[in-house]
Amino acid sequence: MGLLETLYQDALLEHAKRPRHHGTLADATVVEDGLNASCGDEIKLYLRVADGVIEAVSFEGEGCAISRASASMMTEAILGTSVAEAGLMSERFKAMIQGQPPAAELGELKLFQGVSKLHARVKCATLPWVTLELAMTRDEEAHDEEAHDEEAHDKA
Ligand code: ZN
Repeated sequence: MGLLETLYQDALLEHAKRPRHHGTLADATVVEDGLNASCGDEIKLYLRVADGVIEAVSFEGEGCAISRASASMMTEAILGTSVAEAGLMSERFKAMIQGQPPAAELGELKLFQGVSKLHARVKCATLPWVTLELAMTRDEEAHDEEAHDEEAHDKA
């Protein structure tokens, strides 16, 4: 059996073959690129965030089956959640991949637990999440700037 068949259940293979929310998002409020140089995985993550809620999400990019499955399942997991919840989910996912027992809240994402034993593939699984964290930080910074602009306007 190959690596994927050994480690992954059908659900993961299905996500890798037919990723959910794959493509661009015309009305994205933030777009973030991620790269895992050790495997050659690339991701472009699109988010539409409004009032602190992830209203829409999609991704593009070329990568191995693990990175594709991870990105696909991440989009399903974070769609409709708050930015704060998504950040917490990312922390839990990374902790599991680093070998800690998976948090119950991870749900289907627990399928990735086996990756913790494959050190070379850890970055494949975490790339979408690391990219998500950068995107959410960027979105926050954009809002901070807006707030500053308003402040400056009030003083003028
Ligand atoms: Zn990879």
